[in-house]
This record gives sequence, structure tokens and C-alpha cells, in this order.
Amino acid sequence: MLVLLLFRLMTAIFLKGLTKKFGETIAVNGVDLEIEAGDLFFLLGPSGCGKTTLLRMLAGFIEPTAGAVYFGEKEVTFEPPNKRNTGMVFQSYALWPHMSVVENVAYGLKIRKIPPAERLKKALHALDVVQMEHLANRKPNELSGGQQQRVALARAIVVEPDVLLLDEPLSNLDAKLRLEMRCEIRRICTTLGITTVYVTHDQKEALSIADKMAILKDGQVHQVGTPNEIYRSPNSKFVAEFIGETNFVDASASGNALETPLGLLACSASIPKDTSVCSIRPEAIEVHDTPAATNGFSGTCVETIYLGEVAQHQVKLNNNLILRVTEVNPSHLGKLGDTMHLSVKPKDVVPLSK
Ligand code: ATP
Repeated sequence: MLVLLLFRLMTAIFLKGLTKKFGETIAVNGVDLEIEAGDLFFLLGPSGCGKTTLLRMLAGFIEPTAGAVYFGEKEVTFEPPNKRNTGMVFQSYALWPHMSVVENVAYGLKIRKIPPAERLKKALHALDVVQMEHLANRKPNELSGGQQQRVALARAIVVEPDVLLLDEPLSNLDAKLRLEMRCEIRRICTTLGITTVYVTHDQKEALSIADKMAILKDGQVHQVGTPNEIYRSPNSKFVAEFIGETNFVDASASGNALETPLGLLACSASIPKDTSVCSIRPEAIEVHDTPAATNGFSGTCVETIYLGEVAQHQVKLNNNLILRVTEVNPSHLGKLGDTMHLSVKPKDVVPLSK
């Protein structure tokens, strides 16, 4: 029975050539995307890349200039918001101040003409899912920011939406609450099995809880993948730089290796012929007492910041290239001017052509 219920709720989303122009500005530019049923899917990218416009086209608040949106097999491109069965959570919680928590949550059911007793039962159940049932009779101004956001979530899920849309839901919360709430959102999405699209510019939020994510720039999708795929195998300089910190080192293909200013580097990934650079994450560079045999190189330490669990070094190589190196669990700290022997595993060298 439970399995059947979850199955009924799961809806895949397909975007085909989705485009939105505002006058001369192309906010979303020919996006093709497939979001699997039940996934927690992130739209991630720098400010102005089109994430919010894309989400609003999913909700039906903005009509596309071209292209199509499908929820499962049903085309919803020009369906009004109230015909799409979506639930939405905004940055601002947008709760009714004069209504109690439970009345806020039940409001969407009232609009749908659900009888009062059933309304109350469903609203209390939604509040139970977000662990707010005990505060059902409070007013929104008697709640903390995190609690208000839980109520906003309960209000979105109470209508049993096919698709849940979250627009920067945690950006008004302090750092500690953000961490707590992102785990909550992951738990709720897993429990309910609702296909969820989540917009953020916070890469850590996406890396920590996404099933998959799309990286956008200038209205276009640059890469889609799991957090691990995106972080470890970025397909462009833009993605490598946007997700986490990295070092870019000039590189050209030389058989199964890369010719670089660090020397010839073995590389596990297949090397495109037009490779021009490689990405090496600071934490992928290992520090040794003596020169390393494989993919080894040495330089002079020009800056060290000790942070306890890690030390962040800047290491200058012979050709003046400066590499950022994050040493995990640093046991002894060298001095500025010391020679540092470094290496990188072939699987951590990512060749890029653009
Ligand atoms: P942010 O992270 O800053 O919220 P975003 O990735 O969500 O950015 P959008 O809000 O989707 O980006 O905007 C994409 C582009 O479309 C921007 O250049 C923006 O200025 C433009 N834009 C968005 N809405 C409108 C509008 N109603 N009229 C004109 N231009 C708009």
C-alpha cells in the first residue's frame, strides 16, 4: 500500500528546448533536461544564470518563449500553476501572520474544498512529517526562522504534490540552521518520494544532499550529474571552478599522459586531443617527506595557514606557478621557504579542453 502510494506520487520531469526571453535578455536558452521520478534535483549556477526563471516555468508562473515542459507523459507547458499539482517553498516563508500554524498548512486544502475533518487530519500529518505537530496552534511570529521554514514545507507537501519546487529555501537562515534544515529536506524528500527541484547558488547545499544536479551558466545547462561526478569529473573549466576550489595547470595530450609545467603527469581519465589545461583539487595534492616517484613535483612553500584539521599551503614551483595545496591532518608544519615534495594520483588529474 505504502509502495503504491509512493509510486503514485513519483513523477519524472522532462524539459525540451525550454527558452525564456525577457526582451533582449535570454534568461533560459534551449534547456533539455530529464529529471528522474523521486529525485532531489538541484539547479545550481552563479547569479543571473536563469535558475529562478527555469523553476518558475516549472511552477507555471512564467510562460516559456519556446520549448516544452512535461510532468511524466503530460505536457504542462501552458497549464496554469493551480492545474499542475506542484508545491512551492520560497526564500521568504510567506506564511499568513493571522493564521495559526495548522491553519496555514490546511489553507491549500480548504481552497481545494477538502472537508474540515480531513483537512485537519492531513495538516497534522504534514506537520508531523516536518516535526512541527507540537507547535500546531502557534502563530508564525511565535516561531523561529527554521520552524517557519518547516511550516512552509508542510504547507507545500500537504496537498500531495507531484512535484515539489524549492527556491533558495534556506537562504534566510543562519549557518547552523541551514545545515540542520538541509538534512531535514533530504529526509522529507526521501520519506515522501516526491520529485523535487531545488534552486540554490550554494554548492555545499547541493553537494551534500542532491541526487543529481545541473550546473547552469548564461541560461544553458553545462553539466548534469551526481555530486560526485560533478566534483570529480567536471567537463569544463567553468564547472571545475564553480564547484569547489581547484588549480588549473596548462596541459597538452602526450599519449596516455599530460605534458604540464609540473612534468609529465599520468592521468586515469581518457585525454581529449584538444586538452589545454588540467584541474587538480588542492586536497588531491599529497605532501611527502621525500620526492614522490609517480606524478611527483617539488616547490617552495610561500604561505601556510594552519586550521587544525587541515593546513592550506601556497607552493611556488620553479616556473613561478603557484599551487594551492590542502594538507589533511597536518602532523608537522614546515616553515616558509621550505621545499615541499608533492604528488597527485592519476585519478585526480582531470584533463579539460575548454
Ligand atoms: P539569482 O541567483 O541572482 O536569483 P538566477 O540564476 O535565479 O539569479 P534569474 O532570476 O532566472 O537568474 O534571471 C536570469 C536573467 O533573466 C537575468 O539576467 C535577469 O536579469 C533576467 N530576468 C529575470 N526576470 C526578468 C524579468 N521579469 N524581466 C527582465 N529580465 C529578467
